Amino acid sequence: MAAVTGDQIAAVLHGKNDIRLEETPVPQPGKGQVQIRVHSVGLCGTDFHAWQRGYFVTDEHPLVKPFIFGHESSGVVCAVGEGVTDLKVGDRVAIDPAPSCGECEFCTKGRSTLCPKLNLWEPGMGHLRQVIVHKAALCYKMPDTMTFEEGALLEPFVVAVYGCERGQVRVGTTVLIVGGGSIGMLSLVAAKAAGASKICVVDIRQSRIDFAKKMGATHTVLVEGSDTAATGKKIGEIMGDLPEVVLECSGTDPGMQTAIHAVKKGGKVVLVGVAPQTATIPAAMLFVKEADILCAFRYGNNFKNSLAAITAGVVDIKPIATHSFPLEKIVHAMEIASTGQEGALKVMVQPGKI
Ligand SMILES: [Zn+2]
Ligand SMILES: [Zn+2]
Repeated sequence: MAAVTGDQIAAVLHGKNDIRLEETPVPQPGKGQVQIRVHSVGLCGTDFHAWQRGYFVTDEHPLVKPFIFGHESSGVVCAVGEGVTDLKVGDRVAIDPAPSCGECEFCTKGRSTLCPKLNLWEPGMGHLRQVIVHKAALCYKMPDTMTFEEGALLEPFVVAVYGCERGQVRVGTTVLIVGGGSIGMLSLVAAKAAGASKICVVDIRQSRIDFAKKMGATHTVLVEGSDTAATGKKIGEIMGDLPEVVLECSGTDPGMQTAIHAVKKGGKVVLVGVAPQTATIPAAMLFVKEADILCAFRYGNNFKNSLAAITAGVVDIKPIATHSFPLEKIVHAMEIASTGQEGALKVMVQPGKI
C-alpha cells in the first residue's frame, strides 16, 4: 500500500446547518505522523452543536469556517512518516483525536484535556474524509478481534471511563445515569466494569429504557412529566436509596435538575454529556446536600486502559453503534444521530464507502 495522493471528498461545515461535500487535498504524513485511510467516524454531540449552533461546546469556540469535522474514528495506516517505528502500513488503528502537548502543567498532572495547546476545533483536523494524517503516538493499534466500529467508539468510551473516574465509581458504588443516549450507554458499560452495584438509567424514551435493560442496567426510570423533583424522588424509591454518583449524560437543564434532585447527600454529580451553555439548577438543594459537581470534558488518561478492557472482552461496546452511513449521506446521518430517530445511539459515517 503506497501513500495516497491527489484529492478526496470531505464533509465540510460552512456555518450553521450548512454541510457540504467538497474536494480537498489528501494530506501527506510529516515527521512522527501516519497517513490513515478512515473506516468509521462516530458522530458526537459536539458535532451537532457546531452544525446547529455554529460553535463548539461554548460560544468561546466559534466555528472556524470552512471546517472539516468528525473526531471519533478508526482506520488503516496507509503510509508512515519519518521516525515512526511503532506502526506500519496495514495496521488497524483507533484514534485519540486530541494532540495535547504532553509537557504543560495540565498534561503532566494527567489532565491533558485542559492542555492550552489542545484544540480539536482547528480547521484541517477533522476526520470525515477518506484519508487523514495524525500523530502516530495518538494512534492505538487495534487487535484483530476489534471491529472498526468499536475502534471509533473508543474515544467516547474513554469519555465515559473518565466520567466514572471523576465520580470515583468503584466496587459497590450506586450510580444513576441521566440520559440513555450513546454517552449514557457507554457510561453504563464503564460503571458496570468498575464494579457499581446498582446502575439506574433514567430517560424520556421507552426505547432507550429498553436498551438500557439489555445493556445491564439494574434499574430504570421512564420520565413522566416535567417535575424533576418528582423524578428524583421516584429514582430513590426504585433504587431503594438515592444514588451516590450521578453521571449526567443528557446535557439538558431537566437532566441537570434531575441529577441534583436524585443525588444522595454528600454524593457526586458528574457532567459527562456536553453541558448546556447555561442552566437553571436547584442550587439550594445542591448546597444542603453538600454534593459535588464534577466535570468530565474528554479523557483524562484513559485510552490505553479503555482499549485494554475492550481487547480483553471485559466490556462490550459494540451494540452502541446502531447505524452506519456512507459519507455522501452525512446530512441524513447527522439528522438521525442528533434526534435519536429510529433508535439511533451512536451513528457511524464510513467515508470509504462513498
Ligand atoms: Zn466526541
Ligand atoms: Zn499540555
